[in-house]
Amino acid sequence: MKISFLDLKASCLEIRQELDETYRKFIESGWYILGQELEAFEVEFASYCNVQHCIGVGNGLDALHLILRAMDIGLDDEVIVPANTYIATWLAISHAGATPVPVEPNEKTYNIEPKNIEAAITSKTKAILAVHLYGQPADMDSINEIAVRYELKVIEDAAQAHGARYKGRRVGSLGDAAGFSFYPTKNLGALGDGGAVTTNDSELADKINLLRNYGSRVKYLNEIKGFNSRLDELQAAFLRVKLAKLDKWNAHREELAKYYIDKLTDITELTVPFVPTWAEPVWHLFVVRHPKREILKQHLKICGIDSLVHYPIPPHLSDAYTENQWGIGSFPITEKISQEVLSLPMSPHITHKTIKNVAEVLQKAF
Ligand SMILES: *Cc1c(COP(=O)(O)O)cnc(C)c1O
Repeated sequence: MKISFLDLKASCLEIRQELDETYRKFIESGWYILGQELEAFEVEFASYCNVQHCIGVGNGLDALHLILRAMDIGLDDEVIVPANTYIATWLAISHAGATPVPVEPNEKTYNIEPKNIEAAITSKTKAILAVHLYGQPADMDSINEIAVRYELKVIEDAAQAHGARYKGRRVGSLGDAAGFSFYPTKNLGALGDGGAVTTNDSELADKINLLRNYGSRVKYLNEIKGFNSRLDELQAAFLRVKLAKLDKWNAHREELAKYYIDKLTDITELTVPFVPTWAEPVWHLFVVRHPKREILKQHLKICGIDSLVHYPIPPHLSDAYTENQWGIGSFPITEKISQEVLSLPMSPHITHKTIKNVAEVLQKAF
């Protein structure tokens, strides 16, 4: 038995004909950057997220970075960020020139704990950057309530959560702006790099439009010092084909997750994901916890099952952030999570039979 973590090719093969046709049309168009495909994708993805604006950019990191720039958040500013996240969330803040201020997660959801946010707010705090980790929406009402009281902006890192809902509302529409990634492994993935910003703020959308394209609205008129970070026509065209499949693919993930939870709940020492009543996650990753994670991972490997760790080193302990001198023990909940989490195979193209095999191996292991 050989079970891979995620088969990226399978999603392409399912829609092979449409992708081939899209590519042919793309070549024929003779227009490769900032054209009709991108415009159409932006309209469709904005509508999918139930927001007024979507701006396609180069990748997820740029999406978050440009949001912060557009909000004029930079030097001497602080941004509240989950301690427990992928490092890109932090890097966006650092690249804008601001300081990430980490906050510990809720031990059950792994997302930022709103109760811990207030203690981290200072006179320099400008925004809260919440992450919908593993495809599970963060507790946005509580976060927004704090933000209103302290006059802070709220930014969503929705890179892992395309289509997830919080109290019935789609992520990407729950703060002042949201950043998405279309990195190939994400729930909505391009065949290369890609990203987008969604927002209901027309002024902010306009600024991000400028920032992604050299600060220019009209060619050779540069209003501000912009960047070059645009979602390619080709990737936008592929993403349009894939967006039409997203709900179906997310529904399949949901079925697999329910099966896993059902079969694994009773295993002592193994913690299955917790889903609050208000959350409709999209299961970007299916993450379990076990005190002896490495032994479990090894056992799965011997049985032919791939598993991964998201993420083994929290940002505050990574070499990239040594300047902050956060030692081991600075964020104990985050550190414990990083030592215990294990992501099991999960994708829209894994069959129920395969998941059954994984569950059986785990049941027998204990
Ligand atoms: C993938 C990811 C990003 C960055 O996206 P890229 O497209 O790789 O730049 C940011 N935040 C989170 C939580 C991610 O998972």
